Amino acid sequence: MSESCNHDCGSCASNCADRTAPLDLHEAQNEFSDVKKVIGVVSGKGGVGKSLVTSLLACSLQEKGYDTAILDADITGPSIPRIFGLYGKPLGNENGISPMIADNGTRIMSMNLLLENAGDPVVWRGPIIAGTVKQFWTDVMWGPVDYMLVDMPPGTGDVPLTVFQSLPVDGIIIVTSPQELVSMIVEKAMNMAKMMDIPVLAIVENMAYYECPDCHSRHMIFGESQVEKLAAKHQIPVTAQIPIDPRIARFADHGSISQLEQNWLDPVVEALEKKAE
Ligand code: ADP
Repeated sequence: MSESCNHDCGSCASNCADRTAPLDLHEAQNEFSDVKKVIGVVSGKGGVGKSLVTSLLACSLQEKGYDTAILDADITGPSIPRIFGLYGKPLGNENGISPMIADNGTRIMSMNLLLENAGDPVVWRGPIIAGTVKQFWTDVMWGPVDYMLVDMPPGTGDVPLTVFQSLPVDGIIIVTSPQELVSMIVEKAMNMAKMMDIPVLAIVENMAYYECPDCHSRHMIFGESQVEKLAAKHQIPVTAQIPIDPRIARFADHGSISQLEQNWLDPVVEALEKKAE
């Protein structure tokens, strides 16, 4: 900084330390929150099962005894409350707003819990949506949380960028489908995390195969899996696969996902536990 600095960078061409130092845009969490780990769940495009993976992961972590929360950052397409069968309205006081609690104890905040009618569209521009996600972090009284899973909107737009910049994200989990793996979209999401210096902890391939309920043979409906190749290319240490399973749609559609018995995401849960250690 020069001695004549008037702190008006707009009228100065000097490349001083003040100008070049990275800005820390992280927001403080609510004073009634004690969130230990924040994990983003991202996908390249919609409909690949990102909300499903977020929900199954929350169920597995909660079952293992961890206090788990889901911040539904998919503001324009929120599906977490429906998957957990939550329909009421969250309560608030002068200190903030309380998350709603699912039947298995998972704490949840989502735009759909705040709308007059769950079917109402959220017709907002990017900065307003991004501001709402920030408020879910600053204004919600999350209480003690071991793992907060952030269900990100798909893609690499405004909102994922805001989440990466304003929440202390410890790592991300990429969700993809076999068809998407052959495209570049998922790699874009991965590269965005790298640019933000956030580690990719695992990649989950959803709808990877169909297992015959009679003979238990596996059928690769969408072709051979590409997930190991992609993980090796990007040095992602953990992969997991979820089959196409009619039970998934049934449990998710009836809001009873916590009752679905599964162990597909065990490698991811182990990776999260290791990260916390
Ligand atoms: P996203 O969050 O990526 O938009 P969702 O998790 O909402 O996608 O999943 C989209 C739909 O596909 C949901 O109705 C969900 O129940 C269904 N679905 C996702 N994965 C599977 C699967 N492996 N088997 C059967 N149905 C699935």
